[in-house]
Amino acid sequence: MTDCIFCNIIAGEIPAAKVYEDEGVLAFLDISQVTPGHTLVVPKKHFRNLLEMDSVNSSLLFEQVPQIARKIMKATGATGMNIINNNEEVAGQTVFHTHIHLAPRFSEKDDLKVTFVAHEPNFEELGKLAEKIAQTKE
Ligand code: AMP
Ligand code: ZN
Repeated sequence: MTDCIFCNIIAGEIPAAKVYEDEGVLAFLDISQVTPGHTLVVPKKHFRNLLEMDSVNSSLLFEQVPQIARKIMKATGATGMNIINNNEEVAGQTVFHTHIHLAPRFSEKDDLKVTFVAHEPNFEELGKLAEKIAQTKE
C-alpha cells in the first residue's frame, strides 16, 4: 500500500533501523523508543491489523517473535519484556499495518505503563459470557 508508512519502510522508500529481516517479516526499532530497544515486528504483506490476518500469515509473523525478543533482551541487557499488539483506534492503534511491539524492560519505573484494572468476579456472568463467545462463529 503506497500510503502505508510501514509498507514504505518494507519497500526501502523510507529509512528504518532494521534488526531482523527474512522473506516474510521485518523488525525495526520504533522511532518512539519507549524503552531502549523498543522494536516493531511486521509482516511484509500489508494487513490492517491482526484481526484481518489468517492463520498462515499470523503464524509466519509470530514464529519470529521469540527469537527476535531474545536477541533484543541479550543485546540490551533487559530483564523482562512487554509484547503488545494494538488493534483499532479504540485499542490505541495509530499505524494501520499489523505490528507487534517488543518493549524490553529494565525497571518497573520504565516509561511504559500497562495497567489491568481488576474487577470482582461474577462467576455466573463469566460462565454466560464464555459460553456466548464459545458459540460464536468468527
Ligand atoms: P501503534 O500505536 O500500536 O499503532 O504503534 C505505532 C508505532 O509506530 C508507534 O509506537 C510509533 O512510534 C511507531 N512509528 C511510527 N512511524 C514510524 C517510523 N517511521 N519508524 C519507526 N516507528 C514508527
Ligand atoms: Zn502496510
